[in-house]
Amino acid sequence: MNPSKSLSQSHRTKIPIHFLEPSSDLVRKHFIYSKLRKLDDKDCQQIDSEEIKKQLKSIREESLKNIEANLKELTILLEKMGAKTFYAESASDAASYVQEVLARSDLKGVCINNSSVVKEIISEFPEDIEVFDTYHASQKEIEDTTHLDYWEVPKISEDHIWKSFDIRIIKYKEPLNFVSLIGANAVSSRDGSFFFVQHFNNISSLISQSKETILVVSLEKIVSDLEQAKFISRASGFFGLKSLLLGILSYDTDFQKVHIDELPDRFSSASDTPENKIHVIILDNGRKNLLKGEFSEFLQCINCRACGAVCPRSLLMKEGEYRTPRELVHLRFSGGLSKTVDEGLYNCSLCGSCELACPLLIPLPEYLLKIREDVVQEGLAPKKHMTIGENVKTFGNPYGKGD
Ligand code: SF4
Ligand code: SF4
Repeated sequence: MNPSKSLSQSHRTKIPIHFLEPSSDLVRKHFIYSKLRKLDDKDCQQIDSEEIKKQLKSIREESLKNIEANLKELTILLEKMGAKTFYAESASDAASYVQEVLARSDLKGVCINNSSVVKEIISEFPEDIEVFDTYHASQKEIEDTTHLDYWEVPKISEDHIWKSFDIRIIKYKEPLNFVSLIGANAVSSRDGSFFFVQHFNNISSLISQSKETILVVSLEKIVSDLEQAKFISRASGFFGLKSLLLGILSYDTDFQKVHIDELPDRFSSASDTPENKIHVIILDNGRKNLLKGEFSEFLQCINCRACGAVCPRSLLMKEGEYRTPRELVHLRFSGGLSKTVDEGLYNCSLCGSCELACPLLIPLPEYLLKIREDVVQEGLAPKKHMTIGENVKTFGNPYGKGD
């Protein structure tokens, strides 16, 4: 039997999987630091970022309006494609599903990408499951990297950034003995296309080499068609680039940082590996309820992390914690009110920078203020803040002193 023929057949999934990543000839290895900032602008056409924001808003509004229909269409399609699809009401349901997959594979480890929706799920894992962060390990591929402060981020042509995030084709390899858990940027309900933005090779390596792959899509990331899914993913890479630069190699995670080629032997053994199986988790985790209430606009978020790049509170948090304003707001629904306090709700100065940086102008400060109101109502605010409030009520000043 021709081994390469057998490999491509065993790996074939009917789910179209697309990657958007910076083009290899321009930016791969020396991403930003050496090449991108030296690009010649003479061939650039001007990109109108305001026009991109307008289109993005319209796509996001439309997809949220059609969320039920898109979900139904995608579920039927995935079934027809033979994908194992699981609708998870909660993050713990999704975590249980992943545990079942791991148990069947006789593995206690999962490789992840750097995705918020994956973070929601692994926060529900029991301690004995090992999590390998391949995103941060991939950063080692970049040469000449040092930590940047925000004022040091080089000015890069918007046109180059926009064009740079273009579709690459996945090339499957010999499967290894691990399970990957990967969050999608957008999914098209019409043809089942999954889109991933990657800055390094970690996502394509995971999908192309894992024994079982679990693709996760949060409910609001399902859109009508392939063009919309591609546009959203590209916009996520475009608006999120500054955040990426600021985050490179500058934060620690709680997870083991392991490059896919450096997995411990028990995971990397290629012996007796069956064909690569693809599972899909569609994660709700409170999102349907959000659609009905005053936070509904929040679901327009494309997870670009632009809000995190400008947020002074985010600088105080570590990677692996809930760093971006977007993550903090989401935590109110996925983790509960007291968790938002633990994760630095009161470090927010309500400066408003996050809303201005957000391509969708999502009113994050307003949401954070509302969350504080709820925190106070529930008596969960830090003691010193409650004392200041009491002092103002009693003495008319925050110091607790009478005349
Ligand atoms: S309003 Fe709060 S969350 Fe937003 S940028 Fe300012 S400090 Fe960060
Ligand atoms: S809320 Fe933050 S992560 Fe979401 S779209 Fe706005 S800037 Fe991007």
